[in-house]
Amino acid sequence: MNEIPIIDLNKQYESIRSEMDEAIERVLKKGSFILGEEVSAFEREFAAYCGVSHAIGVASGTDALQFALLACGVGAGDEVITASHTAVATVAAIEMTGARPVLVDIDPVRYTIDPDQFMQAVTARTRAIIPVHLYGCPAEMTPILEFARKVNIQVIEDCAQAHGAIIWDRKVGSLGDAAAFSFYPTKNLGAFGDGGAVVTNNPVIAEKVRLLRQYGWKERYVSSIKGFNSRLDELQAGILRVKLRHLDKWNDRRRMAANLYLELLSGTELGLPSHAPDTLHVFHQFVIRHSRRDDLQAYLKKNGIHTLIHYPVPVHLQPAYANLGYSLGSLPNTELTAREVLSLPMYPELSNEDVERVCRSILDFLTDVIYHTVPKV
Ligand SMILES: *Cc1c(COP(=O)(O)O)cnc(C)c1O
Repeated sequence: MNEIPIIDLNKQYESIRSEMDEAIERVLKKGSFILGEEVSAFEREFAAYCGVSHAIGVASGTDALQFALLACGVGAGDEVITASHTAVATVAAIEMTGARPVLVDIDPVRYTIDPDQFMQAVTARTRAIIPVHLYGCPAEMTPILEFARKVNIQVIEDCAQAHGAIIWDRKVGSLGDAAAFSFYPTKNLGAFGDGGAVVTNNPVIAEKVRLLRQYGWKERYVSSIKGFNSRLDELQAGILRVKLRHLDKWNDRRRMAANLYLELLSGTELGLPSHAPDTLHVFHQFVIRHSRRDDLQAYLKKNGIHTLIHYPVPVHLQPAYANLGYSLGSLPNTELTAREVLSLPMYPELSNEDVERVCRSILDFLTDVIYHTVPKV
């Protein structure tokens, strides 16, 4: 029995090998490796793709979030609201600015921040909110944007899992004051190493991020503000330029696989992903939920099907963030979600046959559960 991985980056490389090898050779021959023509070209192309006027390449998605926050004026003494059900990077980036993360609960169906919980968490110290478009599902932006404008809070979208996702007729990343993307290899648009970008329509924020990524230099060797070293390199930019041309097609394929999963798993007791009708989901992950998730995961593993849990421990219950003062019971939807979610294999090259095999195994499990023949693990 062959194994079905959760993601297969080799298949993607094979499908674009000649274009990719050509881009890499072009960069190597040019002999310029940091903040050169490839990065500038990628920044132009990625900004155009997102429908914004500026994109600034940086070294990671975490840095992109940190710089977007700093450029929006966030710092020590401020509070930044986000979901606890996210990659820890979202919260780490807030802490890197000196601000205090305020973690709120999610909508248990969409897995994105609950707008009512956000509104209730706002205080006089709140400076920004980071809605996370988790798993590729756009967050509920309309009430968030409206309320944020009213109380004068900056909105920074975490788009690390949602390259190409759409709300109304706009790409995510173009809705808030600024947005952060990650190009970690497994993301929908992934480099062959680390990378990230801030996108924005605000020229002041864009300029500030450009300074922050390179020692605060406006002019070489003269720091006008205190900055960092967080640059996207030429090789990664060249790789990303090739992959950007394929992104929409790859997202379409993800959606086709997701639709097949939805069709084959509908009518069962599983929780299935859903999104608002005026949005386009890009299925970075295809996430189901079940009260016997751990048994289901073990059953699939036995059948050669690999799955992951995004995320097993909510940030507000992680040891490093104990200082924030949350405890078990603080965020009930988040805590139940962490116990029940399971990410199934999902990548553009995933075949229909593999999706069918995954679903058959899940249906077998559900039947066995009904007849109580699956031993508890
Ligand atoms: C991947 C990810 C990040 C961080 O990106 P890195 O490039 O790994 O630093 C931030 N937020 C979310 C939701 C992510 O999935």
